[in-house]
Amino acid sequence: MAKITENLQFINEKIKQAKNRSEKKQDVTVIAVTKQVTTERAFEAIEAGLIHLGENRPEGLLAKKSEINNQAKWHYIGSLQSRKVKQVINEIDYLHSLDRFSLAEEIDKRAQKTINCFVQANVSGEESKHGLNRDEVIPFIESLAEFEHIRIVGLMTMAPNTEDEEIIRNVFRELKNLQQEVVKLNLPFAPCQELSMGMSNDYEIAVEEGATFVRIGTALVG
Ligand SMILES: *Cc1c(COP(=O)(O)O)cnc(C)c1O
Repeated sequence: MAKITENLQFINEKIKQAKNRSEKKQDVTVIAVTKQVTTERAFEAIEAGLIHLGENRPEGLLAKKSEINNQAKWHYIGSLQSRKVKQVINEIDYLHSLDRFSLAEEIDKRAQKTINCFVQANVSGEESKHGLNRDEVIPFIESLAEFEHIRIVGLMTMAPNTEDEEIIRNVFRELKNLQQEVVKLNLPFAPCQELSMGMSNDYEIAVEEGATFVRIGTALVG
């Protein structure tokens, strides 16, 4: 396996170039997605200077957190079953997969602090993907006003599985447009300044289109 420090250097350089190309100035935070690697490997990520770790299963998150704990910020990036909310919700710093009202209800009931959430959108409309359709996102966010523990920090999406860069770029661009629309609503519980988009194969495009969090597994720790 390649050294994480070297992978990170390479990725940081690519992110810098992507920002230069697009003349964008946003801060980009790299989330090391450690779902497929050991706790030991996740520790190497911390040693390489990464702070943000992403997991997509309650078991994986809790196992790693029990050893790494507050040396990392914890991102839950997978779809979350309502019955698993109580296991993880007070253990994480960000949830990237808020996609339904019943989940919001359960989070609000179990949370002992404000939970930073991304609303997951399925902009590409692919059947296999989780997330709300484009048109559902704003009504959904407006419906969350009653929940005192939920803060909508941004939107999240996954690009479709395709080699076609223009299709990927359009998905990211649409998410950015949607985020701007949410910002304009001026909702106190939904500042929505962040965009969680871009993975190993498409993070450069995502950064060009305004990503502020990229979620990278294979190319970084894999
Ligand atoms: C696994 C996963 C990633 C990372 O994918 P890579 O292609 O390994 O970089 C990012 N986001 C989500 C939601 C994931 O499940």
